[in-house]
Amino acid sequence: MDKRVKPEGFREETLVIHADEEVAEDGSVAPAIYYSATFRARDAAEFREMASTSRHPRYYTRYGNPVHERVAKVVAGLEGTETAIMTGSGMGAIATTILALVQAGDHVIAQTRHYMSTAKIMDEMLPKFGVDVTLVEQTDVGAFERAIRPNTRLIMLESPANPTMVVTDIAAVTELAKPRGIIVVADNTFATPINQRPHELGVDVVVHSATKYLGGHHDLTAGVICTSEALADRIWQTHISLGSVLSPMDAWLLLRGLRTLPVRMERINANALALARFLEEQPQIERVHYPGLPSHPQHELAKRQMRGFGGMIALEIKGGYEETARFVSALNLPLNAVSLGGVESLVVHTAAMWGGVMTEEQMKTAGIQPNFVRFSVGLEHVEDLKADLWQALQKV
Ligand SMILES: *Cc1c(COP(=O)(O)O)cnc(C)c1O
Repeated sequence: MDKRVKPEGFREETLVIHADEEVAEDGSVAPAIYYSATFRARDAAEFREMASTSRHPRYYTRYGNPVHERVAKVVAGLEGTETAIMTGSGMGAIATTILALVQAGDHVIAQTRHYMSTAKIMDEMLPKFGVDVTLVEQTDVGAFERAIRPNTRLIMLESPANPTMVVTDIAAVTELAKPRGIIVVADNTFATPINQRPHELGVDVVVHSATKYLGGHHDLTAGVICTSEALADRIWQTHISLGSVLSPMDAWLLLRGLRTLPVRMERINANALALARFLEEQPQIERVHYPGLPSHPQHELAKRQMRGFGGMIALEIKGGYEETARFVSALNLPLNAVSLGGVESLVVHTAAMWGGVMTEEQMKTAGIQPNFVRFSVGLEHVEDLKADLWQALQKV
């Protein structure tokens, strides 16, 4: 069977364009934007029903909004989950999910490598609320197993992980968690549901920074929590208290961006693979980290659990901070900006993010290599990107 065929019978390209039609009430082809904070009831009985319904899309926009409902339908369809909750940012989705599912006395297992703000939740926020956290090496399934305690409630995964492109064996971890009743949450931002579907590998909650590939145009911030109806009801209770609300305009832009996600990812996968191969051959490059390359230590695992390898490449320039800074500055096409996943290629010299506050020696101790570059491959023509990378490498 074509792996992309969804239960509804639609393939991804069709689903992103039509999955939300069933929640649309009017005849407009383009979705309407409901710029309303609140929604009126026709009578007291209807008001009572609106007020007591979980995740009602027409009650109060912090609780839900018709545009949220449409976007959620599309993303849940792509991830293969029953439903989804929209949030104002990726961190809104991650923080809300974790805070909803754990309490004082619980234990959480997470990876040593996570998106920086997720790592902060593990290092600083959870311990503050009396939740114990064990960080494990994500390449070692045994490390997850050894970390499990009787009070382990949640395992947090991120694969490929930001920014090193290290891969976690998602199915192996969920097999450990399932019989023990441990909830597994996975950040699928880097892969996107086009390249990897964690729920099919046993993950209970799939979270995204929709700011990145799902939106795809570097013009909005949004997050999404994809899960079962039962878990969504639980998480939503915390969501309405934390208030990470997605604006109706950003929800609308996200819906528009999602229409082209499958075609964007197809091209981005191809561009990134071609560029990773090209970069690996250049004499000024020490190492390329890309799960689609046979040189990636987990290439076989990546091939098993991913259908494409995404648009994120990490590279190490031969030399130190200065050589790497010269390379990044010499690039004309990739813009030197944080974030990722949009139509424009972006690069970040990771050490420069910390350069103002740390010495080169301190960064080495903290594992921030001075020659590390994170590259988000966009939709420019691959030959133009190649030429630009080549000329910048000559200036190293
Ligand atoms: C950007 C990002 C986040 C945070 O998302 P925001 O939308 O910026 O809040 C979380 N996880 C990963 C992997 C990301 O790249």
